[in-house]
Amino acid sequence: MTETKARRPLIAGNWKLHNTIEASVELARAVADGVGTSSCEVVVAPVFTALHAVGKALQGTSVTLAAQDVHWEPKGAFTGEVSVPLLADVGCSYVILGHSERRQFFGETDDTVNRKLKAVVAGNLSAIVCVGESLAERDAGQAVSRVDAQVCAAFAEIDPTAMTRVVVAYEPIWAIGTGRTASPADAQAVHAAIRSTLSELFGANVAAQTRILYGGSVNEANADSLLSQPDIDGALVGGASLSAEKFLAIVGAAG
Ligand code: PEP
Repeated sequence: MTETKARRPLIAGNWKLHNTIEASVELARAVADGVGTSSCEVVVAPVFTALHAVGKALQGTSVTLAAQDVHWEPKGAFTGEVSVPLLADVGCSYVILGHSERRQFFGETDDTVNRKLKAVVAGNLSAIVCVGESLAERDAGQAVSRVDAQVCAAFAEIDPTAMTRVVVAYEPIWAIGTGRTASPADAQAVHAAIRSTLSELFGANVAAQTRILYGGSVNEANADSLLSQPDIDGALVGGASLSAEKFLAIVGAAG
């Protein structure tokens, strides 16, 4: 990446449902050792069962810990759920919200994303809020309108001051885990539209400060061209984040 942006780049690895505790700690250590003097913020999101051990392994490093989801209630009769206070207790700084796999397979809706976002910011954690259109929506020319609708719903009743702890991730569903990537120009067009929507919702200053990540088959070969776009402030990486070498190459492309 040649241009220096005002927004600090963020590269987040979403490890999804992969890796034992031992393998997660090993991967986290390799990432932390390799980050070196990168100016970019680096975040990893292991499975829930590995959060505590990975959090301990990352202590004293520049890499921060994220959870892949959360429930909006702090406690109570919600079998199988994990809350914001518990994620803070285990050392998480970030929570990924509204990932398309949660929307597709686990009934996540714009409304539940909004409830979770309110809980995350109220609990002083940061959120990576995922939005993205399906292939049918893109083919119908509805990519921007779909993504804008998701952004408006996710951020309903969110205070502008809370936006310092919020990151948006644009992840076209058809590009996740498929090896297909949005072209840098297509991704940039949607990122610019998201920033314009953020400006309408929260004002120009908040929009200019909010980081918007791209996600969808980002790898060491395409990272540079995507991250060079003016409104792409980093990446949410799935498959390539399971290899320290590939993930660190993407971190290197970001700064
Ligand atoms: C993701 O899970 O958010 C993602 C972008 O996955 P991948 O990089 O594998 O497409």
